Amino acid sequence: MALIVQKYGGTSVANPERIRNLARRVARYKAMGHKIVVVVSAMSGETNRLIALAKEIMPDPDPRELDVIVSTGEQVTIGMTALALMELGVRAKSYTGSQVKILTDDAYTKARILSIDEHNIKQDLDDGYVVVVAGFQGVDANGNITTLGRGGSDTTGVAMAAALEADECQIYTDVDGVYTTDPRVVPEARRLSKITFEEMLELASQGSKVLQIRSVEFAGKYKVKLRVLSSFEDEGDGTLITFEEENNMEQPVISGIAFNRDEAKITVLGVPDRPGIAYQILGPIADANVDVDMIIQNTGADGTTDFTFTVHKNEMNKALNILRDKVQGHIGAREISGDDKIAKVSIVGVGMRSHVGIASQMFRTLAEEGINIQMISTSEIKIAVVIDEKYLELAVRILHKAFELEEA
Ligand code: ADP
Ligand code: ASP
Ligand code: MG
Repeated sequence: MALIVQKYGGTSVANPERIRNLARRVARYKAMGHKIVVVVSAMSGETNRLIALAKEIMPDPDPRELDVIVSTGEQVTIGMTALALMELGVRAKSYTGSQVKILTDDAYTKARILSIDEHNIKQDLDDGYVVVVAGFQGVDANGNITTLGRGGSDTTGVAMAAALEADECQIYTDVDGVYTTDPRVVPEARRLSKITFEEMLELASQGSKVLQIRSVEFAGKYKVKLRVLSSFEDEGDGTLITFEEENNMEQPVISGIAFNRDEAKITVLGVPDRPGIAYQILGPIADANVDVDMIIQNTGADGTTDFTFTVHKNEMNKALNILRDKVQGHIGAREISGDDKIAKVSIVGVGMRSHVGIASQMFRTLAEEGINIQMISTSEIKIAVVIDEKYLELAVRILHKAFELEEA
């Protein structure tokens, strides 16, 4: 007998028939004697619909109220899932994030989980219930509803698995595992039967939305056995996230390619080159809780420097306003501009550690198609470039081919 957390994404709960289908799988696992916790997302499209609805009243919605609104999507699907299980004769009970007490900080729309009270759930499992928990939502110390950022139900799933010390966390989605790249963009993409935790972390952080990055972080921190599977097929082992790095000579150098259309680039031109300047620019941005991803600084011959960084597209205007109001005059920068027509493409693989020439192969491949690189950043197992968004799909396809990732 095992304790298994099964997380189902939006397409897996898109309508009553799919909810019945997931309930049948859960009932099968239950009949095998396992204890099951189900974590569900909102029906596909529902979170977007709720955000759009809020924006009809307030174009830039107050974050606390936005979380009150968007968290309702998951409240519907937990009730629906519990009903579907009951219809199959399975005892089931639903919980919202605040009913569980998934305690988060108070960063509305992107809250972090601080702790989970697993006590009642353990009791319910012992009493023979399937417990159905709302993904994506929590509650802060003052009882306010919070949400965990887009795709956050993955994180609820893995965090529940960690809190309950589950034997496995299964992420059911609309693809049958983690692929070398998004199979919707490159049909030749290949499913990986295994991927190392480190690689998955990089892919998720670089934009592969198959798993939310924080879910992978949780899996790493608490050593949760994590598997990505199709909710539409009953066969198949999906992709296992592994913690041992295999010393396999056959292991390809590059395991996957991620991309991200959600970032915007901000450039601060003509900044005096002196100590503390990076802090003066990025300090106020961080104080406003805006996440910064890539950063580049280069000094010109005239003793001034240009400073470029990326933020989420949704936060570009906020960041520009902060810089223009609080920073530009103060530091004497010549010009501040934003560009949201960019995309980031990243190649990821632990094999990069032992191979040279990967970056030059990447740059040559892009150059041969006339794709200009605007920014570069690297880690030990990743090379990421920012390019014009109109070349994104082309770049992913040619890199996938150049690094021989397609189905053999
Ligand atoms: P869910 O609603 O189940 O959480 P998501 O849409 O968040 O599903 O994530 C699954 C999607 O992730 C797939 O449909 C696929 O288009 C996309 N995706 C991006 N990169 C990858 C990848 N490397 N492997 C598999 N799927 C990927
Ligand atoms: N429903 C939320 C979203 O669309 C959370 C999730 O699906 O994981 O982002
Ligand atoms: Mg998702």
